[in-house]
Amino acid sequence: MAKIISLANQKGGVGKTTSCVNIAASLGILGHRVLIIDLDPQGNTTSGVGITKRGLVGSTKELLNGEMTAKQIIRETPYDNLWVIPANTTLTSSEFELFDFDDNEFRMKKALEEVADDFDYILIDCPPSLGRLTVNALTASDGVIVPMQCEFYALEGLSQLMISVKLIKKHYNPDLEVIGILVTMYNSRLLLSMQVINELKKHYDDKLFDTKISRNVKLSEAPGFGKPVYYHDKGSKGAKEYIEVAKEIVTRL
Ligand code: ADP
Ligand code: MG
Repeated sequence: MAKIISLANQKGGVGKTTSCVNIAASLGILGHRVLIIDLDPQGNTTSGVGITKRGLVGSTKELLNGEMTAKQIIRETPYDNLWVIPANTTLTSSEFELFDFDDNEFRMKKALEEVADDFDYILIDCPPSLGRLTVNALTASDGVIVPMQCEFYALEGLSQLMISVKLIKKHYNPDLEVIGILVTMYNSRLLLSMQVINELKKHYDDKLFDTKISRNVKLSEAPGFGKPVYYHDKGSKGAKEYIEVAKEIVTRL
């Protein structure tokens, strides 16, 4: 049975999509079968694994509204052991249309049952909000990974997210756990980075991944080629660090 993992943080630009694409690709390189679900109407995960966003025949929207099944929608990527359920701007309306369903929090969970035995990991890239789409992701997940940048407001955002996780646990998914907090765009020479890390250790020590993701230009270039960073430059710091995070995830779950 696949372990289902959401990448969530209500803040935009913290590295959710970069982490989703590169953790998924790394797990694939390590020999696990991985499905990515793009749950952000921006579709950056979709283009990030080389799939054209425009004119998708099946996407996360049809998965959630029941017009198509997961098996009908899943696309192969050019990368080892990596498949995707893509998304584009059509997903924007799902945030509202989900309310038409009595079981609206559970749409994703139910839709994934069909393919749970086909994969080792399913990674869901969440949009930058705590709306219905993210509620669906967290309700379907065994665990959540929280990517965050080392900045002043990050800690505040983190405590909001932890409250949401508690509420989801209470109402929809008692088994949901926080797998880990992943520091992204890290620069060890910045005093602020060190201060934020110290605060994180005080409050969430056991949850912090040992591996931190450094700021690395290869990570920001790779999506422009539709590639996870390993396939763009496998010797890069970004490629190596994401492989290390993937290994940590395997041991944590
Ligand atoms: P989110 O999905 O949370 O909005 P993204 O993963 O799209 O965040 O990252 C935001 C921007 O930062 C993107 O342009 C991405 O390429 C860049 N980025 C993310 N992580 C890194 C990193 N470790 N080093 C350099 N650039 C990064
Ligand atoms: Mg994103």
